[in-house]
Amino acid sequence: AAKLRNDGAVVYDSSIDKASEQSLSLLTELRNAIERNEFRLFVQPKIHFDTGEVVGAEALVRWVHPERGNVFPDQFIPFAEQTGFIRKLTRWVLEQSAALCQDLEAAGLHVKVSVNLSTRDLMDQDLPTKFRELLERRRLSASSFCLEITESAIMDDPVRAEQTLARLHAMGVELSIDDFGTGYSSLAYLKRLPVNELKIDKSFVLNMESDAGDVMIVRSTIQLGHNLGLRVVAEGVESEAVWHQLKSMNCDQGQGYYMSRPIPADQLLLWMQQWRAP
Ligand code: C2E
Ligand code: CA
Ligand code: CA
Ligand code: CA
Repeated sequence: AAKLRNDGAVVYDSSIDKASEQSLSLLTELRNAIERNEFRLFVQPKIHFDTGEVVGAEALVRWVHPERGNVFPDQFIPFAEQTGFIRKLTRWVLEQSAALCQDLEAAGLHVKVSVNLSTRDLMDQDLPTKFRELLERRRLSASSFCLEITESAIMDDPVRAEQTLARLHAMGVELSIDDFGTGYSSLAYLKRLPVNELKIDKSFVLNMESDAGDVMIVRSTIQLGHNLGLRVVAEGVESEAVWHQLKSMNCDQGQGYYMSRPIPADQLLLWMQQWRAP
């Protein structure tokens, strides 16, 4: 890129060029990935502690790149958010999740599918309408879905986020606050927003077995959630010991490697047939 220096000279900075070239090609690749069918819908089961039943599944996207192989969301979601590509990806995820919902309903199973939304999605005025059209086309009830939103996504533009969330909630879709405890100034919004679920961030859950501080945080968060009338979900359950800890604390649902890693969406039915709660 050509840059104007303070002394008026024009200099050429090739490092900027390289970086922008790389991001331009990543954007092109992401755009092509939808047409080339390179995204895969993975899901991770959510288990009800009291009954041991699978009550939900979180949709997690994977990118199977022809050269780079499996690309994890952390490597392209932030970029997709910056560039606005995330809106297209979110619609793809919603479409795939709706197809999964149909399959589950056909099998007589009631599993709520959770989809992650980003800041950009909350700023997208068309999203509620697009979502309603999808439900009608697939003949699905809005209550088959839960939408997960992080605190930071709401804080970016709370007024607009609140409008979008209110419209979605009025349709009957459930809302969840994701990564709870990692953001800030969330409590005031928790009271105001029409949320149904609070998801305790895995950073507090992973080491519950050995960290008394984490146990305290998790216990208090469960109480806080319940006092606000919310369902509380713990993510990052990696051991049977933590499963029992959470269950004894009256946590509602758990999700984590101990039960299952994220699996391809078309394997969920089979997984459910084999699942036995501890
Ligand atoms: P997230 O929404 O907090 O999703 C949970 C992440 O924790 C997933 O990582 C999941 O695989 C991982 N996880 C689940 N159980 C355990 C466990 O027991 N131990 C550990 N160490 N990790 C566990 P994943 O699939 O790599 O996704 C990372 C993030 O990328 C997600 O975090 C979410 O923020 C974002 N993401 C993934 N798919 C989508 C999507 O379709 N749309 C949007 N907007 N974001 C997505
Ligand atoms: Ca999530
Ligand atoms: Ca999370
Ligand atoms: Ca309970």
